[in-house]
Amino acid sequence: RLYNELIELRGNIRVFCRCRPLSSDEITRGCSSVVEIDSSQENELQFVPSEKERKAFKFDHVFGPKDDQETVFSETVPVVRSVMDGFNVCIFAYGQTGTGKTFTMEGVPENRGVNYRALEELFKISEERTTSVAYTFLVSILEVYNEKIRDMLDESNDQSKRLDVKQSADGTQDVAGLVEAPVYNIDGVWEKLKFGSRNRSVGSTNANELSSRSHCLVRVTVKSEHLLTGQRSRSQMWLVDLAGSERVGKTGVEGDRLKESQFINKSLSALGDVISALASKHSHIPYRNSKLTHLLQSSLGGDCKTLMFIQISPSSTDSGETLCSLNFASRVR
Ligand code: ADP
Ligand code: MG
Repeated sequence: RLYNELIELRGNIRVFCRCRPLSSDEITRGCSSVVEIDSSQENELQFVPSEKERKAFKFDHVFGPKDDQETVFSETVPVVRSVMDGFNVCIFAYGQTGTGKTFTMEGVPENRGVNYRALEELFKISEERTTSVAYTFLVSILEVYNEKIRDMLDESNDQSKRLDVKQSADGTQDVAGLVEAPVYNIDGVWEKLKFGSRNRSVGSTNANELSSRSHCLVRVTVKSEHLLTGQRSRSQMWLVDLAGSERVGKTGVEGDRLKESQFINKSLSALGDVISALASKHSHIPYRNSKLTHLLQSSLGGDCKTLMFIQISPSSTDSGETLCSLNFASRVR
């Protein structure tokens, strides 16, 4: 409860920035860091692209190269907990390819990310409340690529299966026919997450490349029944690893690659438009401009909680894209 009141006070949209370490390859190539983080200033970073230029950017929280998965998750917990109290939640990772979106959300087996830790937290809370509330958790995993939705938990892996966003009678959005797998413990969740990412790479020649051009979404549906009052509620949490935000050079790109980048630009800018409209309390929110925002409509806005990770690279060679991401962040905040 206290957590939710704190979120309420600070508004429903949070923006965190996470800067990864310089990679060993970047160090070998002599790249320097253009991002300065002062650990005593936990919500500000300095972008220093040259000796003469310096610009400060403010966030709800800044994570630097030394901050580990656990530290990042500890700041994410309040938003995750609110789904157990009936709020819809969206957590995104936005940024250029190679900045750690997948590292933050999925993580690596020995160093798991937000997706796994969030589910672990839900089971923990469910355990704590076992005498008063009965919870049920359902997991769906889908991919949005070129404005098409693909079900990653569909065993048949039927590529021709067309999924679309439908409006229900109560005004909420849903995807008819999407697999909703019940999960009973954290090991079951890990199995589903692994199955989803394995299924995702089937049929693609380069899994990494494909993942940079599609959005990967995990949806956790939380159903609860209060044991004394019989009151039922249903809420959902979306965990979204977005397509890479890098701009594709205008020359030399054509055909499928050009189409892809146009779809990516469209959906990422539509997402930015929706969040900035929400942040500035506009009356019209343009959800219908992309598959991504339409899909997330019921979980963006109103009293839903939104958390955006802006992922950046510290490397001097990426400073152009880093500035674009930092500017995107100021738009949604
Ligand atoms: P993206 O999904 O944005 O393309 P990745 O998550 O694949 O980026 O990260 C690119 C590489 O950088 C991976 O090898 C990943 O393990 C590493 N990496 C990203 N963020 C961190 C971090 N905070 N600490 C250590 N390694 C990281
Ligand atoms: Mg990735």
